[in-house]
Amino acid sequence: MSSKPKVVVLGAGYAGMMTTKKLMKNLSPEEAEIILVNKHNYHYQTTWLHELAAGTINPNQVRIMISDIISPNRVRLIYDTVVEIDQENQKVILENSELIYDYLVISLGYESNTFGIQGMDEHAFFIENFESSQLIREHIEYQFAKYHNDPNAEESSLAILVGGGGFTGIEFIGELVEKIPKLCKKYDIDRGKVKIINVEAAPTILPVFDKDLVAYAKKSLQERGAEIIEGTKINECTEEGFIVGENNELIKAGTIVWTGGVKGSSVVEKSGFEITKGRVTVNGDLRVPGFENLFIIGDCAWVMNKVEERPYPPTAQAAMQHASTCANNIRALIRNEPLEEFVFSDKGTVASLGVTDAIGSILNGTKLVGKSAATMKKVVDDRYLLLLGGPKLLLKKGKFRPF
Ligand code: FAD
Repeated sequence: MSSKPKVVVLGAGYAGMMTTKKLMKNLSPEEAEIILVNKHNYHYQTTWLHELAAGTINPNQVRIMISDIISPNRVRLIYDTVVEIDQENQKVILENSELIYDYLVISLGYESNTFGIQGMDEHAFFIENFESSQLIREHIEYQFAKYHNDPNAEESSLAILVGGGGFTGIEFIGELVEKIPKLCKKYDIDRGKVKIINVEAAPTILPVFDKDLVAYAKKSLQERGAEIIEGTKINECTEEGFIVGENNELIKAGTIVWTGGVKGSSVVEKSGFEITKGRVTVNGDLRVPGFENLFIIGDCAWVMNKVEERPYPPTAQAAMQHASTCANNIRALIRNEPLEEFVFSDKGTVASLGVTDAIGSILNGTKLVGKSAATMKKVVDDRYLLLLGGPKLLLKKGKFRPF
């Protein structure tokens, strides 16, 4: 049996893939055995799932075989579902086996959070992973096909109702306003019959952006046929739609999608870690308080912004940066060297409003709208592919097509 320390990474999303890549670079094969566990044999681009859900991207562009990026000769790849972490015995319980670790990285991403809204779990779809997003796309197309073939079908069955006007909800609406006219043409349905509705409880959608950018986004989406209802609470979700506002009005739809909240993977809570608002607050070196060898990164973690005394928002940008610090700190532990503190470098935020429109706030607060913002979004997406798999992956999966 090998006496090398076992470094186990759970989850092959942005955080897990980049940690594994960096560990391969940081450590020689003699220094440690690296094991990557993921539910599937593919990695998917979580930040592109709204496109998958709307059907505006080829599903194969969104996912990448893990073994195309990470050599199975160098890293043990295990395709299985993590059920629980047995902290006391340094053991990971998988659906089909168990794994002992010396160092553990938990990067299992997010799950939807419905905040206890009655009926949401039962009746809504979620943009949660590759499969759940595919399901939305198929369901929307099914509603159109059904309407086309059934003379008694109700017009409301064509409506798409999206709960939550944050990043994911609005990016999804941006894709829908482009996709729906194409579906209408395919199924010979009048575009005027299809409602695309976003409902947000807060006074405004996209609270991370300033009011000029939000106003631009709203106008762009409304002009292309989306209805945006702000300051309206969803009281309940039923089979028919959302019940909203003080008068309990029913908004009917054939497709209901909830994008209004996320939390870290439930595996973390189930494993007994202390949770605050669905995530674990980690130390500056990204280890879990009280553990020498256990890191939590990506969407499962709260990493504190010590200057502003609040956690950084969980994003892909942050997850990739966590990965670098985490891999360096595992090397430091193995080599008995000092650990580094995580420092977030904010590269800005861009939200797409379809293929050719977007809003963004980048370095030094520079604001971008329209095609320049949409181009910036594609640059960000392509940069990740380049970092992950070099020019070969960029050429295969990149978004560099001209407008
Ligand atoms: P993920 O990338 O979600 O990866 C988690 C991995 O763990 C997956 O491979 C999953 O299959 C695997 N997994 C989960 N559970 C298990 C289990 N039990 N067993 C085994 N494997 C498991 N962020 C930005 O910075 N910029 C953006 O523009 C942006 N846009 C977004 C758009 C959308 C539509 C969405 C949904 C999110 C967006 N985000 C964006 C947020 C970003 O995607 C997340 O913050 C990021 O994916 C977090 O990375 P992660 O590695 O923690 O999790």
